[in-house]
Amino acid sequence: MKKLIVASNNQGKIKEIKQILSKYDMNIVSLKDEKIDIEVEENGTTFMENAYIKASMIHKLVKDCMVLADDSGLMVDCLNGAPGIYSARFAGEHGNSKKNNDKLLDLLSKKDKDKKTAKFVCSMVLIVNDNKVIKVQGEVSGEIIDKEKGMNGFGYDPLFYMPEYNMTFGEMDSGLKNSISHRANALKKLEKEIEQIV
Ligand code: IMP
Repeated sequence: MKKLIVASNNQGKIKEIKQILSKYDMNIVSLKDEKIDIEVEENGTTFMENAYIKASMIHKLVKDCMVLADDSGLMVDCLNGAPGIYSARFAGEHGNSKKNNDKLLDLLSKKDKDKKTAKFVCSMVLIVNDNKVIKVQGEVSGEIIDKEKGMNGFGYDPLFYMPEYNMTFGEMDSGLKNSISHRANALKKLEKEIEQIV
């Protein structure tokens, strides 16, 4: 069975990627499972650059495994695409969702727009080997509401509302979110490649 290392320490993302790829005969492991404890400096200027930086750094350490890295975030139209690549550390402290969400709500409370349209973006880089690197991007559109709704998911999920479902990502069960999310859309694009590999 092929081993795929997901180059992330975000447990929410790893859980979703494992769930979406569970139909493939692959041993999907995290950096923690592999006891890889390195801080990768995400100094790219786009989601894709950051995903590639993470994937290639880890692949240098584990040449014989496939490595999948994703970089994702939220882009709000009336904030000119912020928080964008700074989504995880929008309020200064990496991964503090409460502070990030409060900051987003505070900024949006000063904008007098009816609908605060936004999208989640997910760039993914799969390094199969030194000669085969696959890059895909998935997106999902929605709106940012003025208070958190729902306890599921992670990060900005309770603020990301999808009118078609009349629910935030935070209110959706994981099965639904994982079938329509930016990550799901990116992974769907990767599936053809993965089918040929496993
Ligand atoms: P990354 O781990 O550098 O890709 O940072 C991603 C950050 O974007 C996360 O910490 C969240 O704040 C946000 N984010 C990305 N995907 C999602 C999602 O599916 N739901 C909620 N927040 C997300």
